Amino acid sequence: RPARAATRRQAGQSTGDIVISHPDRVVYPEDGITKQQVADYYASVMRWFLPSVAGRPVSVIRCPEGTAKACFFQKHMIQGLKHVGSAKLKEESGAQATYIYPLDAVSVIELVQFGVLEFHPWGATVEQPDRADRVVFDLDPGDDVGWERVVAAARLVHRRLSQLGLESFLRTTGGKGLHVVVPLNPGCPWPQVKDFARAFAGTLAQAHPLEFVATASKARRNGLIYVDYLRNSRGATSVASYSLRARPGAPVAMPLRWAELGKLKSGRDFDIRSTPKRLARLRTDPWAGVDTLRQNLDQVMKKFG
Ligand code: ATP
Ligand code: MN
Ligand code: MN
Repeated sequence: RPARAATRRQAGQSTGDIVISHPDRVVYPEDGITKQQVADYYASVMRWFLPSVAGRPVSVIRCPEGTAKACFFQKHMIQGLKHVGSAKLKEESGAQATYIYPLDAVSVIELVQFGVLEFHPWGATVEQPDRADRVVFDLDPGDDVGWERVVAAARLVHRRLSQLGLESFLRTTGGKGLHVVVPLNPGCPWPQVKDFARAFAGTLAQAHPLEFVATASKARRNGLIYVDYLRNSRGATSVASYSLRARPGAPVAMPLRWAELGKLKSGRDFDIRSTPKRLARLRTDPWAGVDTLRQNLDQVMKKFG
């Protein structure tokens, strides 16, 4: 059921099957962006956005009263949702919990109706929650790290991954940093993925101690870039490509071609207004091939001994 393209709507009109209540409520107060504009944004980028969340357990950030009031990072089922998938999955604690996963465009718009602004999928699908299909290196610059250094860091991560025979993909976060994503042959057990991510980050920090830190407890060290490899365990999430962020300016997490890295000015270069324009101009997917690459970590892990 495709979401209908966004046009001007009045209160009570529907997006697909979903009625957006309080369409004129301003959810981004600094920018005057309304709940209806958020729904329209997701409807207009749906073709690009949906593959990054469909069939994956997602955590969401809900700001029912807008970003000026309380926002919630929510991992589990929200009462009243009718158009999303739900799956009982084991928690770290061993207990079972009900996770949600978008099925289609209607799921996404229903979540927006429930106040969701940000989508954060697992690196796994509901069918195989115990097996990862991607590694995410989350580059988190400390407070006084200039943008050129973040760019250089992403390039270095890209090059080192290539040297290991791994193709990787670049995304802005809509925040301070960048993500480098390595698609895997679906079916990598989480412990292997976690070992690889830790080893890669550790090796990087050892080789470039004035540039990187890979220890969570030293994460916010000034002057260094934290290679946050902890995105890579069962149940951990990272922001979805094309997701909005609940931050001033309504920035978007944007997948890019590596060739575009040099043109970036920050992790916040794209937002709710510029993203649909960019997508309208794009001829090919900047992440073309990401879902068909079958990369395996078995050989790579041997290089780390
Ligand atoms: P930035 O570029 O500003 O760092 P980011 O999305 O990478 O943006 P991080 O703070 O580095 O933000 O967080 C990385 C990921 O960790 C997030 O995208 C999110 O999926 C997950 N995360 C963030 N906050 C929480 C939280 N409270 N609980 C669990 N996971 C979280
Ligand atoms: Mn980050
Ligand atoms: Mn992080």
